[in-house]
Amino acid sequence: MYDGYDCAWLHRDAANALTKVAADLRTTRPQLRLLVLDALRPQRVQELMWNSLEGTDLRKYLASPDRGSIHSFGMAVDITLIDAQGRELDMGTPFDDLSERSHPALESELLQRGELTSEQIANRQILRDVMLANGWQGISTEWWHFDCGDRIVVRQNYTRIL
Ligand SMILES: [Zn+2]
Repeated sequence: MYDGYDCAWLHRDAANALTKVAADLRTTRPQLRLLVLDALRPQRVQELMWNSLEGTDLRKYLASPDRGSIHSFGMAVDITLIDAQGRELDMGTPFDDLSERSHPALESELLQRGELTSEQIANRQILRDVMLANGWQGISTEWWHFDCGDRIVVRQNYTRIL
């Protein structure tokens, strides 16, 4: 679906903010690295994904194409952490797991129900702390997704890639 894009692209502002995250991590957690899972997602790809989920209740995990995704501005990133051996940290679910277990907003509940461990939540918190300290904002439904700055400002001031 990403024909024409040979690697993960971001808007320059988001790329600079992510560079800061990497530098911060190198200082505070030198044993960890960032692993970018998705970055720029052009609007046409967003539409293909939206259409493929027609008739399912999974559309709540995608921004509708009318409204558009912050990914389509190159101002959002899906990201996780890897250790010195290149293994992904255990975040409790895989990337793009479309279940409540991915929801940061439900973590204390999920911990109580035994569906997440405190170590998994601590791993997510490392990621959130370093992202939020460097200009990114998380969302309530996906532990891996971060917007660069305010999504309303992005929609008003940045160009959507079609
Ligand atoms: Zn995302």
